Amino acid sequence: SEEENDNSSNDISDNEECDNNNSDKKNKIGPSSFICLGLLGKGSFGEVYLVKKKKTNELYAMKLLDKDRIMAQNIFKYAMTERNVLSLTSHPFIVQLHYAFQTNEKLFLLLDYCPGWDLAEQLSMQARFSEPKAKFYLCEIVLALGDLHQKDIIFRDLKPDNVVLDADGHAMLTDFGLSREGVYDAKIAKSFCGSIAYLAPEMLNRSGHGKAVDWYLLGVLFYEMLVGIPPFFTNNKE
Ligand code: ADP
Ligand code: MG
Repeated sequence: SEEENDNSSNDISDNEECDNNNSDKKNKIGPSSFICLGLLGKGSFGEVYLVKKKKTNELYAMKLLDKDRIMAQNIFKYAMTERNVLSLTSHPFIVQLHYAFQTNEKLFLLLDYCPGWDLAEQLSMQARFSEPKAKFYLCEIVLALGDLHQKDIIFRDLKPDNVVLDADGHAMLTDFGLSREGVYDAKIAKSFCGSIAYLAPEMLNRSGHGKAVDWYLLGVLFYEMLVGIPPFFTNNKE
């Protein structure tokens, strides 16, 4: 909310702007540079708000991560990964990070605003996609994953809620909290992560996973886009 922005505007401890070589304090970007217009989505690690930059009226998606929650859940490294991976990437089908900064309580990531909802929301409105539509999103996601893999990053968290649509209806990968940098060899990443319905066999048995995990998840996503539910769906976790 705007009030929250105002409260935290004095608290900026380590203010950092992505494209900033400018030591002039007045030009520094912080929570008070933005007006909050509404909630875009909630995920496992944070909330994402629609905000407007006061100076330019430009819209951004602002991902807010609560430091206490991050520390309590021992997921600080995921927040750092998200920030690091996003600052390494620049691709037409991956959301761009514009600013990153923090207050004493929160971490802020300012991303491209994608107004077309995420694919989970689209699927719940449309039940399933036509083959041409599913193929279109599939192709764009293939290009985005290809770019990440070339940079030795695996996304690992591909699922409908982590693909948002931009103003022109293009698929954009968002949410890099679970991505893994520096994957040079196949099967080196051993940590267990992801959602239950979106779980590659090698992640489930913890035998180590590599870039192939993203292609497995792409298959699951493609299936869900065409059928409306994931291929291995049950309400029973076991
Ligand atoms: P989490 O890591 O908590 O899962 P996400 O980054 O996936 O958080 O964001 C949660 C939700 O917010 C997404 O599922 C999507 O609906 C919405 N969202 C995320 N990024 C954007 C964006 N750039 N533009 C519009 N909505 C977004
Ligand atoms: Mg997410």
